[in-house]
Amino acid sequence: MARILAVTNQKGGVGKTTTAVNLSACLATLGQRVLMIDLDPQGNATTGCGIAKRAALPTVYQILIGRSTFAEARVKTEFGFDILPANRELAGAEVEMIEMGGREFRLRDALAPALGDYDFILMDCPPALNMLTVNGLVAAEAVMIPMQCEYYALEGLTDLVATLKKVRAKLNAKLEIEGLLRTLFDPRSTLTQQVSAELVDHFGSKVYSTIIPRNVRLAEAPSYGKPVIAFDKASKGAQAYMMLAQEILDRREGVVSAAVEQGAVA
Ligand code: ATP
Ligand code: MG
Repeated sequence: MARILAVTNQKGGVGKTTTAVNLSACLATLGQRVLMIDLDPQGNATTGCGIAKRAALPTVYQILIGRSTFAEARVKTEFGFDILPANRELAGAEVEMIEMGGREFRLRDALAPALGDYDFILMDCPPALNMLTVNGLVAAEAVMIPMQCEYYALEGLTDLVATLKKVRAKLNAKLEIEGLLRTLFDPRSTLTQQVSAELVDHFGSKVYSTIIPRNVRLAEAPSYGKPVIAFDKASKGAQAYMMLAQEILDRREGVVSAAVEQGAVA
């Protein structure tokens, strides 16, 4: 069954989309069956993997309002993984869903038939704690939180953790934190080092040991509609996301073998 992760942080520009696209590509390169879901009306994850944001295309929007099925909206990328694309239309979904019953559960329910087709489902959430993000958090098993190591990041994290608690209490009891990812990392900055150390103090092993450096190739790749491993495989950015993919797989293996030892998995 798929491991379902929401890549989320209500703070803008922290590397959510860069992480969703590049981690999807790297996990696919490592032989995993991956689906990426673009939950942001900006559609950056969609164009970032070479899919045009045509209005006619069925997208996550049609799925959320019940006009399309998962199978109709899924698109294969050139990079070994599938995507549910998004475009500007998705901004309307929130208003249209107000009248609908069970609106928090619409994505989760639409995905149910697809869970056996994938090893990983990664959702790129918008920079807001809105109904689209809530649909992502309800469909997810865990959240991956990219963050830039700067002062305001820690404040934002407090808000996010409070939201996760609310979602857990009311909508999705099993939602956990998969990990915190340090992005756009500049090791020369003292503040970056301090915030990074504070994060590790507070969240311990939830902080991935892989750090994503600030790397210009990561910023250039989307304009070619490619994940960075298809654009410049030797770049520091590509190497970092490959390491992250491997770290996630290693953790997963650890969790599964612990469960087998405890007799939880046959
Ligand atoms: P939003 O909140 O608007 O959805 P986001 O959290 O998804 O933003 P990204 O779009 O991934 O953030 O990144 C913001 C900008 O920073 C983009 O221009 C992206 O190309 C660039 N960027 C992201 N990560 C890196 C990195 N490690 N090194 C250099 N540039 C990066
Ligand atoms: Mg984004």
